[in-house]
Amino acid sequence: MLKKYIWVNGPTAQAGKIVLANRPAILVNDIGFLRGYGVFDFMRTYNGKIFRYHDHYQRFVNSAKLLDLKVGLGEKELESIIYKLIKKNKLKEASVRLVLTGGPADGLLFNPKTRTLLVLIEDPYDLPVKLFKTGAKLISFDYQRLIPEAKNFNYIWAVKLQAEQKEQGATEILYLNRGEVLECSTSNFFLVKKGKLITPKAGILAGITRQTVLELANKLKLRVEVRSIKVRELKTADEAFITATNKKILPIVMIDKTKISNGLPGPITKTLLAEFEILIRNN
Ligand code: PMP
Repeated sequence: MLKKYIWVNGPTAQAGKIVLANRPAILVNDIGFLRGYGVFDFMRTYNGKIFRYHDHYQRFVNSAKLLDLKVGLGEKELESIIYKLIKKNKLKEASVRLVLTGGPADGLLFNPKTRTLLVLIEDPYDLPVKLFKTGAKLISFDYQRLIPEAKNFNYIWAVKLQAEQKEQGATEILYLNRGEVLECSTSNFFLVKKGKLITPKAGILAGITRQTVLELANKLKLRVEVRSIKVRELKTADEAFITATNKKILPIVMIDKTKISNGLPGPITKTLLAEFEILIRNN
């Protein structure tokens, strides 16, 4: 849930201030609102400290660059605003959403000097503990996100498919494109085959949790392949899991009507999750 205070920097009267979240913070001709022209990032704290803030900031800047936008605040400057805002909202642990748009626009033209930058604070969200024990289900959908390397505003299919996702008891939607597996609607995808960890290389958002898993795999001396995955490889996978800031490492045991292996979370997934839990506990 969105907390009481946000931080706004844009061409509105409250520029550069902490303001109430239930007051207007953007102008109606903001190109983010009218055309979906904007990027965001999403992170969370463990032990009161943002997990891999540097990586999230870098990704935010990179997403912005891919849309010819500028964050306009340095890493440390933005970090101190975020912690101030978490404190103002009286939270120990929080989720943080950074939002950047091209600002007010005349038609399709925006002025890069008057961008809109928001910092929103939400309660941290965790999936039910049970789901990590039983494993979760995915439904697939043929789609590739626009400019997928940027965490941009276009989540139309992710939103539109929510009802179907719920109906099918699925946790996420797995995007497939031209016979290849890409990523999920809000997470990255991995499979394990003969002890080897495999995750798609291109056409995806470079998840921070994905990167953390790749580093853990390196530490554990697991064999890793970062390459395209064919849809047909799902049928013979030994294990599968997804990764995201608010999903950690979630075992996947069913994709549409395909059961993954014996339908239970696999040993490599469990080992990686245990290592990840240690990392966040020591954050
Ligand atoms: N892909 C997409 C499309 C996402 O929205 C997310 C969630 N940010 C991810 C992957 C996972 O990224 P992260 O591990 O940084 O949360």
